[in-house]
Amino acid sequence: MENTALILIAVALILLVLVIGLLAVLIFKIVKNQPPPPPNNNSSDQQTPHPDISKSEFHPEILERMKDMQKVKPKRADLFCPHHTDEPGETVCAICDKMYCKACIKPFKAMHFCKEHLPLIMKYDWEEVLTLKTSTQDPERGVKLYEIKKEIFEKDDLPTYIETHYKINVDQDYIETYLVVYAQKENKEKLKEKIELELQKA
Ligand SMILES: [Zn+2]
Ligand SMILES: [Zn+2]
Repeated sequence: MENTALILIAVALILLVLVIGLLAVLIFKIVKNQPPPPPNNNSSDQQTPHPDISKSEFHPEILERMKDMQKVKPKRADLFCPHHTDEPGETVCAICDKMYCKACIKPFKAMHFCKEHLPLIMKYDWEEVLTLKTSTQDPERGVKLYEIKKEIFEKDDLPTYIETHYKINVDQDYIETYLVVYAQKENKEKLKEKIELELQKA
């Protein structure tokens, strides 16, 4: 009788161990199969460091076109600010085409100007010199215009800036893009002639 009781207790213990073992395996599997935590929406890589609020008010088609227009602008070789050689350049000055860090460039009239050229923009009257219609199918003339602008600044020391204008043709659901060159009033005629001549050479 005592033996039977002992055997029963032994069997009960073995069953208990088995049940605990099975439970442990089950819990392990559940923990392992849990889906990874959902991505954190506040993580820094999802935030744009400097959201360009000015662009949010544009038509989505224009935003697309703006992206295309980036291809027209010249590629950069200089990666650091000329005044702070350990600071990466962020934005290009619309007059001198050099890339400056945040501390060295200021926004003005939907463009950016370096500390040297912002006073120039504010001090003088700037007038439209020439308008060039471009298309993404044929960006060469746009590229050429940016090259001419840069050369005129570097060789002739005549400052200009180029604005991109967009016009929606509602009927045909089409966006026209124009590059508009501006210069100081007194240089306007001289520059118009020069730029037109250079464009014809292209
Ligand atoms: Zn500049
Ligand atoms: Zn700087």
